[in-house]
Amino acid sequence: MSDLLERLRGRGWRVTSQRRVVAEVLDGDHVHLTADEVHARAVRRLPEISRATVYNTLGEMVSLGEVLEVSTDGRAKRYDPNAHRPHQHLVCSGCGTIRDVHTTGDPLSQLPAEERFGFTVSAAEITYRGLCPSCA
Ligand SMILES: [Zn+2]
Ligand SMILES: [Zn+2]
Repeated sequence: MSDLLERLRGRGWRVTSQRRVVAEVLDGDHVHLTADEVHARAVRRLPEISRATVYNTLGEMVSLGEVLEVSTDGRAKRYDPNAHRPHQHLVCSGCGTIRDVHTTGDPLSQLPAEERFGFTVSAAEITYRGLCPSCA
């Protein structure tokens, strides 16, 4: 069973064959797929799965907190199954490749108290941009 599917099950999510396929195609490391890409992969396994089902299922996974919505280029939202492992993103300005990366320190601790404006800060998203080896 995929890691994501296991986590969703642990939250009492009712697994149907359609939901299972969506969870399975979204599983893995460095996975950041648009809803259309998830649909295209899901159709290969379950030809009758509709785009609406894929969109709704992704929305439920996001509400459960098991999938992150990532928008690194201001274009289509991407879905990231690694919500349980805090990470940042390294994005290629050439081809759009996205890698999951981990900072050496806690990104939250890098925001000084006087820059917090009284906020209780609970999360930080950092996007590093550059060119990947193939585009450099
Ligand atoms: Zn590239
Ligand atoms: Zn990611």
